[in-house]
Amino acid sequence: MSHPRITRVETAAVRVVGPCLVVRLWAGDTYGLGECYPSAPVAAVDAIVRALTEQLVGEDPRDVHRLAEKMRRWNIFTGGQGGTVVTAISGLEMALWDLAGKLHGVPVYQLFGGAFRKKVRLYADCNAGTVDAAAHHLTELPDPTTPEGRAHFKAVADRALGMGFTALKFDVDDVYGSLRDDDWNRTLNRRQIDRMVGQVEAIRAAIGDEVALAIDMHARFDVPSAIKAARALEPFDLMWLEEPVPPENLAALAEVRRSTAVPICAGENLYTRFPFLDIFRVGAVDVVMPDIAKFGGLAEGRRVAELAELHYLPFAPHNVSGPIGTVAAAHLCAAQSNFTVLEYHALDLDFFEDLVTYAGGTVVTDGHVVLTDAPGYGIDVNEDALRRHEHVKAGIGVFAR
Ligand code: MG
Repeated sequence: MSHPRITRVETAAVRVVGPCLVVRLWAGDTYGLGECYPSAPVAAVDAIVRALTEQLVGEDPRDVHRLAEKMRRWNIFTGGQGGTVVTAISGLEMALWDLAGKLHGVPVYQLFGGAFRKKVRLYADCNAGTVDAAAHHLTELPDPTTPEGRAHFKAVADRALGMGFTALKFDVDDVYGSLRDDDWNRTLNRRQIDRMVGQVEAIRAAIGDEVALAIDMHARFDVPSAIKAARALEPFDLMWLEEPVPPENLAALAEVRRSTAVPICAGENLYTRFPFLDIFRVGAVDVVMPDIAKFGGLAEGRRVAELAELHYLPFAPHNVSGPIGTVAAAHLCAAQSNFTVLEYHALDLDFFEDLVTYAGGTVVTDGHVVLTDAPGYGIDVNEDALRRHEHVKAGIGVFAR
């Protein structure tokens, strides 16, 4: 290995949790795998990945920090602060770490200073209790105060617990249907808050006291509504309440946090390390959840995790990636002392494991990603399976160019 040089990139548009871009970055006859956060305009992500790769060709892929910073700074006038450009950078940075690990002959967590743990705990996202395909199209969830409603939430939770997960997340913000009274304001009415409380009560009753439970509000509500709802959820020992208010105004989130005993979690809609400076400065969160495949990559995740550690706060990355992005994030989580749980969003996707071969056997084993000593991430793609799950609409193909 005299002087490895980046030579080319291949991409694949694949529908996993959503339409995501798989990135295969080559240096001679070695490649690294990355994955960009699922985005509807996946063809746009692909175009940006290809333009960014032109800035990487000829470079030594082992200089990961320098190359990620090069991509960010060279695009600072063209979107390097956030959005799809940063998502494209994230997938390439992820691929660079895999490539560097393979070239050095070590797993990626070793490049981050070694592992605090090699079993990375996952929490299972259960949506709103709509993880089976038929329920995805429910216009209204069953009333959680009825026996049918309780049975519905219990069945969803039991499925995840039966797979070995010990931490779950449910959404409670879909309080529409007959409870809706305005399409645009962010205010919750009494019946909507009661419905949320009923859902959480039913879920907590179904899973018992030992299972960790997070609740997501998808950035939908105004400050007074968020405070009322958070206080109403205090009896249920939540692991966290996620994004009760929109993501742009961190002082508003801090106000919610100061007003309730429920731990507040946010970060999945922030890009790059910089807004996380403010998230800690204003005291907006109890738990921080950047999305590695979206907001800048693994090293950016480390910087945020270390900022959180300086405030004695846990690091629990958001993750809606397929198997590549999930394993990549797990390597970083292994190397951070303050890591607690990583999201797994593919409970209803029975083809998730088919997409790859993983050195540890299955990617998800008993609610964890178990890391190995294999170089890089220890993961490889199954191209036939990627083709079966191609996001055809993107018009990109699977490693077709
Ligand atoms: Mg969320």
